[in-house]
Amino acid sequence: MNPVLESPPKITIGVTEACPLRCRHCYADCAHAPKAGEVDAATWIRVLHTLAERGVVQAYFEGGEPLAKPGFLDILRAVTPLMMTLMRTHGAGLDAAMARSLREAGLGRALVDLMGARAATHDAWTETPGSFDEACEAVRNLVAVGIPADVLVILTRQTAPELNGILKLAHRLGAERVGVLRLYPMGRAKRAWADIALPLADQMRAIKGLRPPEGLTVMQSWHPNDHNCCWQAAAINAFGRAIGCMYLREYVDHGDAVATPYDEIWRTNELYRHIRSGDVEERCATCSSTQGSHGGCRSTAFAWHGRWTAPDPFDTTLNHGIDLTQLPQHLLDR
Ligand code: SF4
Ligand code: SF4
Repeated sequence: MNPVLESPPKITIGVTEACPLRCRHCYADCAHAPKAGEVDAATWIRVLHTLAERGVVQAYFEGGEPLAKPGFLDILRAVTPLMMTLMRTHGAGLDAAMARSLREAGLGRALVDLMGARAATHDAWTETPGSFDEACEAVRNLVAVGIPADVLVILTRQTAPELNGILKLAHRLGAERVGVLRLYPMGRAKRAWADIALPLADQMRAIKGLRPPEGLTVMQSWHPNDHNCCWQAAAINAFGRAIGCMYLREYVDHGDAVATPYDEIWRTNELYRHIRSGDVEERCATCSSTQGSHGGCRSTAFAWHGRWTAPDPFDTTLNHGIDLTQLPQHLLDR
């Protein structure tokens, strides 16, 4: 059994859906400018103060691109005395001066996305020439000012052949860890799925073939690390809506997290309680005994089966013959 929490210990803030890049998979379907209705910086600061008062100890900022959010450094300065902070970025604009500003604002850790080990692969993915060099420079600049940096890569048809190259590159740039992430069928990724998704067997081959240089840690969420981490997950999208996890952004809306303190939504929203409950139809015995899998990720379970209690098809033992390169009709119809 997962512990039952009365309030969330940490929160993810999708601070904006603006971004200068045009990634083929962008889950937020980002635009170059902030979208109408996004929560402004002053309101984020107020919301984060309330979260800290009510026991949240960590904020993870993502987007969109957090650095594209007007007032992002003000948000960071206001929140770093209250909680641990992390920021996910593609590094655009993260030059030496910005790294110093992030350091002065108290940022605890940065995670930089790389979608290739070579400029040609990454820049083709982001549709932005020069974005590979900027991402690499961002990692160097962060490390130089003493902000620990990790690299993230999403496993796709295009990144799979370059994974070990990305590990070597990340190590050379000074990253401590590389997170290899699964591809979710949301936003632009859903529309590009046939072109970018890998069969599960190829995903497992890529994960098994990872050869990190000594001193570099790899994080991944495939069997037997396929956690159902919903029990502790809390997230607010750019428009102030409580969505539990950013990977549930297209499936749920638990309520207005600007008007209502998040822990109240956490305790009272029935669907949110259900998703966090760990109530699943099937769980992998190996994962359950070693890692507390509890049926695996609820986002991909729901995406393929349309049920919150369904098994996660990204888990080899729970896949039951599902072809991950094909999206189910109910998802395409949404
Ligand atoms: S960098 Fe992130 S936010 Fe920007 S387009 Fe790419 S995936 Fe979307
Ligand atoms: S939807 Fe998946 S990634 Fe998100 S909290 Fe739940 S299990 Fe974790």
